[in-house]
Amino acid sequence: MWGLIVHEIEERNTIRGLYIGRFQPPHLGHIYVLRSILNEVNEVIIGIGSAQISHTFDNPFTAGERILMFKAALREEGIDLSRVYLIPIPDIEMNYVWVRYVMMLVPPFHIVYTNNPLVKRLFIESGFKVKTPPLFNRGTYSGKIIRRRMIHGEPWEHLVPKAVVKVIREIRGVERLKEIMKSDEVA
Ligand code: NAD
Repeated sequence: MWGLIVHEIEERNTIRGLYIGRFQPPHLGHIYVLRSILNEVNEVIIGIGSAQISHTFDNPFTAGERILMFKAALREEGIDLSRVYLIPIPDIEMNYVWVRYVMMLVPPFHIVYTNNPLVKRLFIESGFKVKTPPLFNRGTYSGKIIRRRMIHGEPWEHLVPKAVVKVIREIRGVERLKEIMKSDEVA
């Protein structure tokens, strides 16, 4: 009984932030944002968006692989994993009900952190407090730029945590990306 009361008090006092993204792959910009979120809230929920998609240019890595990358990076960065939830969130066709759907999949949250205009709009329309974290050199630390660099054989490793480089090597992620970008059409 006492344990239950303590749990309820702790739950009432726990401020949770939701940080949602595709994280294809997680890069140093994401880690920078995550650190600033953890300075403001007790716990952060990292929503791994478009969880049903993999093996495309925009989304080369599976949700499971992205979870592995994030967890390894957080551990390497010395971030307290007990303060972090990593939850896959598949897309749905209906933007109007997406926020309710996300609410069903993750623990209760109080603040949403995003720079994505659609995500921002949908959560504001649903009455949530939304904060836009400062961008960390967006022109360099960008999933799209990192994926392009991988395809073109340019250095990308310095843009992501070392632990993420390790996972991408283990799953032969660069080879996958190069392979799926090939065409079977005759020029
Ligand atoms: P992303 O991985 O591109 O970015 C994640 C977050 O990190 C974003 O807020 C982005 O602005 C931020 N970020 C990126 N680079 C940064 C940097 N250098 N410095 C600081 N911040 C940086 O992911 P995304 O595309 O924004 O993810 C949104 C997800 O929500 C997608 O999976 C999308 O499909 C999903 N979504 C789904 C629906 C639906 O299913 N109906 C509706 C809306 C959104």
